[in-house]
Amino acid sequence: MNTYRVAQVPAPNGSFEIVEREVPRPGPRHVRIAVEACGVCHSDAMFVSAGMPGVPFPLVPGHEAAGRIDELGDGADEMGWQVGDRVTVGWFGGSCLHCVPCRRGDFIVCDNLKIPGYAYDGGFAEAIVAPVDALARIPDALSAADAGPMACAGVTVYNGLRRSGARPDDLVAIQGIGGLGHLAVRFAAAMGYETVAIARGADKADFAKELGAHHYVDSTAGPVAEALQALGGAKVVLATAGNSEAMASTVDGLTPRGELVVVGATPDPMPISPLQLILKGRLVRGHPSGTAQDVQDTMTFAARHGIRSMTEVLPLDEANTAYRKMMDGSARFRMVLTPS
Ligand SMILES: [Zn+2]
Ligand SMILES: [Zn+2]
Repeated sequence: MNTYRVAQVPAPNGSFEIVEREVPRPGPRHVRIAVEACGVCHSDAMFVSAGMPGVPFPLVPGHEAAGRIDELGDGADEMGWQVGDRVTVGWFGGSCLHCVPCRRGDFIVCDNLKIPGYAYDGGFAEAIVAPVDALARIPDALSAADAGPMACAGVTVYNGLRRSGARPDDLVAIQGIGGLGHLAVRFAAAMGYETVAIARGADKADFAKELGAHHYVDSTAGPVAEALQALGGAKVVLATAGNSEAMASTVDGLTPRGELVVVGATPDPMPISPLQLILKGRLVRGHPSGTAQDVQDTMTFAARHGIRSMTEVLPLDEANTAYRKMMDGSARFRMVLTPS
């Protein structure tokens, strides 16, 4: 093929349109991937709405891409990659290697992080060109549609949990059971934590238990912090829903030295008083996704424990529908686009 199809947004907040483009060639230490699936993430909205500086339009979003390498740029084979390898490209789309965090080896907080669908054309397309440091190998047990969401949603919650202070059998609460949260409950239970799911409404209790939660807290039934303390207090709360009030309402439910790990993105301030933190030595911490190796670890763990994102798959031509369902919350639970 000399042309390939992409779903692009022509201007800020515009609708997706399918266009044909000339097939890109991978440069040095880059590969081209024939995309088989790409998840639709809430963070795509930051770019579609031009909410970040210098977003290029027309924009091809997509940072949960999964597929097969179909062309190698110079040097990619020496770095261990071959045509046909199954890989993902996630939120971590490569780092600059020259900023201070990169020089310290902390690539995920790179000052010039190359997020696909922002730094370069993303995965809402039949192909994507990415640098080799962005690639994570997909285990055989995971389909492309399973793997894509692991490259942002999956790695964010998996890494957020394993980098927390929680140890096996500690009480760990997952606040929100949507796109991120339903995966987080599955990971937390498989990691051996006594797992609590927190969500709105009594009707979600059965679903939370099906995901593997040992306890369910209905946040509309009473103070969440009291419910957590009644269970002994949470060593860690992983806050996945972008609701600052709801996140803050969990703080008094933490144990001494407990931590609130924030992954649900929202610009609203969190109403937490210093006193809530000081006396019990509590911690509130943001957690930024993970590198390509972290994604690979996430997928390896998911394959071993039978963990999958619940996805709704649509063809690339229906990018508008997929994006709208992600935005209005009607997706069950992760929208995934496939160029069929
Ligand atoms: Zn994302
Ligand atoms: Zn850097």
